[in-house]
Amino acid sequence: MTRSDNADKIVLVTGINGYIATHIGLQLLQKGYKVRGTSRSVAAKDHLLAGAFKGYDAQYEHFEVKDIVAPGAFDDAVKGVYAIIHTASPVDFTLKTVDDFFGPAIGGNLSILESAKNAGPQLKAFVVTSSIAAVVDKWRLPPDHDYTEADWNDTAESVARKEFTAPVAYGASKSAAERALWKWMEANQPTFAAAAINPAVVTGPPISWPATPDKLNTTLLPIWNIYSGKKEMPPQIGGAGYIDVRDVARMHVWAAEHPEQSNGERYITSNGKAPPQAAADLLRKHFPERDIIVGTPGQGYTADYWFVKGESSTVSTKAYKALGVKRFISYDQSVLDTVEAFEKQWPGLAQNFKHKN
Ligand code: NDP
Repeated sequence: MTRSDNADKIVLVTGINGYIATHIGLQLLQKGYKVRGTSRSVAAKDHLLAGAFKGYDAQYEHFEVKDIVAPGAFDDAVKGVYAIIHTASPVDFTLKTVDDFFGPAIGGNLSILESAKNAGPQLKAFVVTSSIAAVVDKWRLPPDHDYTEADWNDTAESVARKEFTAPVAYGASKSAAERALWKWMEANQPTFAAAAINPAVVTGPPISWPATPDKLNTTLLPIWNIYSGKKEMPPQIGGAGYIDVRDVARMHVWAAEHPEQSNGERYITSNGKAPPQAAADLLRKHFPERDIIVGTPGQGYTADYWFVKGESSTVSTKAYKALGVKRFISYDQSVLDTVEAFEKQWPGLAQNFKHKN
């Protein structure tokens, strides 16, 4: 497939200004596709064309979708598209109720699927960004369970409804939203294929920047905090599976480009285990002159960042095979590329950053 073969194909990417979505958008633009991005604010368009998508004005168009749950919200945005990559969903751990997560997560999936029914016969693939949190059920399955795409997180919702914590409610919302996708596909039997991508904790250099580091996305902020000398180890997210954002984007693009193979499939994307302690150890080694938190060096991970014996694992066997690789981008590269990007964006800021601790 050459760039010019893709020139007439439009790929819709929802939540385009998000951390993962901008990488997906950029990879699609680099492959010659036309990208139609949606966001809640139209200001995202100028931000992207001045930054992550600079030089791609002719290939990029932007639709504002203020409320992704509203019936018909995506009716205009889906017209004529070849594929839909739906990433928009709340990843905000300051939300306060289960339904703050569930509403947009489930409602967003169903609303865009309903619109997709009338997108036209050229629509071949629907790819949704689910999560490893829709797979891993630590309450129901043994602590050394080797997870595969056959597993589901069925317990988080009841846990979150009994005692709310944002990370558990988030995981529950991803599981419920993905379930809603598969149920909808079964009931509607559309002509387009559907696939779910289930990433672990995503790191790697952002290409769309917030105004200040405190606004970095939920999984990058811990790297910033460690690098900029915060004296408190960030909490581990889930089982600390890691994956680089560039590989997550590649997996989405592959699924959209291979509807015959990806139809009905889920793809765990997780390259091993790396808790925040691993980032602290790595960054102390590479920046010995900085005052980076020590914690308990070496705790909770192995030297090659593979899954720890006796603990659960989430191996990406299917995703490796699909993309024809043995492993994804390493944790060291992911984290070092991330802090290099921080320095380019905010030169010197991390070294002199004043944390409130
Ligand atoms: P970001 O916070 O950078 O992006 C989240 C995106 O979702 C933004 O575009 C945001 O739009 C949109 N969004 C959030 N809430 C709503 C809402 N109520 N209505 C409409 N849009 C909304 O995070 P990521 O890039 O990390 O997340 C993208 C997707 O990847 C999500 O589906 C997330 O669940 C999934 N994911 C992320 C992982 C990670 O480690 N980061 C791991 C596994 C899955 P706006 O800019 O308008 O706020």
